[in-house]
Amino acid sequence: MKILVINAGSSSLKYQLIDMDDESVKAKGLVERIGIEGTHFKHNVLGTDKEIEFTRNMADHTEAIAAVLEALTDKENGAIASLDEIGACGHRVLHGGETFKESALVTEESLKEIEALIPLGPLHQRANIAGIKACQSVMPTKPNVAVFDTAFHQTMPKKAFLYGVPYKYYKDLKVRRYGFHGTSHRFIAGEAPKYIGKAADDCKLIICHLGNGSSLSAVVNGKVVDTSMGLTPLEGLLMGSRSGDLDPAVLEYIMDNTGMDIHQMLNMLNKQSGFAGLSVSSDMRDVKAAAAKGDELAKAAVDIWTYRVQKYIGAYNVAVGGADAIVFTAGIGENDTQACADVIGGLAFMGVKIDPAKNVRGNAGVISTDDSTIKVLRLSTNEELPIARDTLAIVSRL
Ligand code: AMP
Repeated sequence: MKILVINAGSSSLKYQLIDMDDESVKAKGLVERIGIEGTHFKHNVLGTDKEIEFTRNMADHTEAIAAVLEALTDKENGAIASLDEIGACGHRVLHGGETFKESALVTEESLKEIEALIPLGPLHQRANIAGIKACQSVMPTKPNVAVFDTAFHQTMPKKAFLYGVPYKYYKDLKVRRYGFHGTSHRFIAGEAPKYIGKAADDCKLIICHLGNGSSLSAVVNGKVVDTSMGLTPLEGLLMGSRSGDLDPAVLEYIMDNTGMDIHQMLNMLNKQSGFAGLSVSSDMRDVKAAAAKGDELAKAAVDIWTYRVQKYIGAYNVAVGGADAIVFTAGIGENDTQACADVIGGLAFMGVKIDPAKNVRGNAGVISTDDSTIKVLRLSTNEELPIARDTLAIVSRL
């Protein structure tokens, strides 16, 4: 069976067509600027030179999905002969709240529950729902499955997920830490034990998903015991454009002194902070390039980023009770070997050591020395495959 995996953003839509016979990606693409002048569409069929690329205004996600299906079945540059080959659609959905502890078939009832969670992540949740509804309208006979970014973290104990604010806010409003990047953390939690000769149900991991958005998770025997993102993805590490942890009183102080309202404030903390706020851009490569030219603030931004990751690793080594492995993944974790070496450099006193000969880009697996007290791994994440796997498992039971 082939599964169409959809990751719908507010003005974008990424997709992959995955053949579940061998879990290979057949085709993938990206629609950008949906609902904005100059919608851009790019599609390619993997392992071939088949490509479709054009700019044509698309008003909404339904038009974008229709274009995706047209491209997938295109006689010359498509990947399948007809839509019959698509068994189901799997959707990345931001927030499952406490309602969804695992992936779910989209039904009238579950869609209502997904909609009820819009207040917890309005922009993304609405976009994800738009993606689901677009598939329902263009392919009414195909089942849809929702896979939640938060679900893998639902195993966290209360001591890790409750904030120290009056309990009524948890009881009445469900204010708590949820965590995100769940499909990535879950994929890595499944893969990492294989590289260190351990069983997934007997393995303590610190997973560092370090990309534009970044989060760490502490995983014991396949279950998350703590994670760094919170009610929203704003909490935790310093990120491309998010501040991560900060004293909430900073908000009032800046607002009082600038006249900003709370929406402007949160926009600033989500979109204009982190690397983007401290340095030249939200992209680690740009910040590093500036640092290499002697830009002191860029150097400081990299130091802040590194130090924050180190602090969380220290904390999560306590959370898991002594990690078997620290795993680096996502854009920075997979590519920036120096960033990984710098983070681990701060753990030398614990006997954790990277082997420079193994710390090579593209080298998946163990990158620590043989005598390192905790193994260090670099693995490529895959956020689409867990969505396709869950979708297949759920539709196979229908
Ligand atoms: P992601 O959100 O996982 O796509 O990761 C994006 C981040 O990865 C950006 O900060 C990029 O600068 C960083 N990144 C991607 N490739 C490299 C690379 N070759 N060297 C350093 N950073 C990289």
